[in-house]
Amino acid sequence: RIQQSYSVAGSVSALPAAVVSLPSAALPGQSAELTALFECPVCFDYVLPPILQCQAGHLVCNQCRQKLSCCPTCRGPLTPSIRNLAMEKVASTLPFPCKYASAGCLLSLHHSEKPEHEEVCEFRPYTCPCPGASCKWQGSLEAVMPHLMHAHKSITTLQGEDIVFLATDINLPGAVDWVMMQSCFGHHFMLVLEKQEKYEGHQQFFAVVLLIGTRKQAENFAYRLELNGNRRRLTWEATPRSIHDGVAAAIMNSDCLVFDTSIAHLFADNGNLGINVTISMC
Ligand SMILES: [Zn+2]
Ligand SMILES: [Zn+2]
Ligand SMILES: [Zn+2]
Ligand SMILES: [Zn+2]
Repeated sequence: RIQQSYSVAGSVSALPAAVVSLPSAALPGQSAELTALFECPVCFDYVLPPILQCQAGHLVCNQCRQKLSCCPTCRGPLTPSIRNLAMEKVASTLPFPCKYASAGCLLSLHHSEKPEHEEVCEFRPYTCPCPGASCKWQGSLEAVMPHLMHAHKSITTLQGEDIVFLATDINLPGAVDWVMMQSCFGHHFMLVLEKQEKYEGHQQFFAVVLLIGTRKQAENFAYRLELNGNRRRLTWEATPRSIHDGVAAAIMNSDCLVFDTSIAHLFADNGNLGINVTISMC
């Protein structure tokens, strides 16, 4: 499965800069054979630097190594650790296919750039977009909505491009999430209001809209969040985030509607806060 995904080697010059060019002496076929030498015999992922071997010279990846008491190939001892610098040098000259090659990613990268790319790879499985990270579900984009309807039945959905997201009991202590879905333009959007202490002793509210879709699809939309009332108005407008990017990064960067508890009280009515949400196409 891994060799076949490496068929791009013959045309490296036409690929993005992230692709490592081959050592001039190596032919594409040879390079694929070399890459195969780095396959972990346990998980079939690549054994990448730092590369450690058993006393007989067999390789196993560092993740698997931590779970093993002996070499999976020869049953010999894995300790003391023996580093294989020659294999590390070879690894540094080879492009390795992205972890999600079997899902369709065509990129091959230097091993040092692989983890960063795989974090943002479009072919990475989607995780459950619900905030709080208690749900460990993963799957394809098409499976996200069915998952939400089955596993998170309490989330309500409103139809239309212009709705009111009503967060009740905003005075509840501690970290709290309010979530609802909005359907319009043939897409599903997830509205999230989160109350948390990003800075100790300073409670804040963060509101953001996510598209159940890719980053590219998200670029076709804009959303507006508005707190309104008591002769005041607070507005935030932005591009929805893809659920591939998630809520946590938006909150971390304050790339969302942010307000503190005093502002929440200015707009709240009996402990309930209504946020006007408008989604438009652009
Ligand atoms: Zn492994
Ligand atoms: Zn061994
Ligand atoms: Zn990828
Ligand atoms: Zn879930």
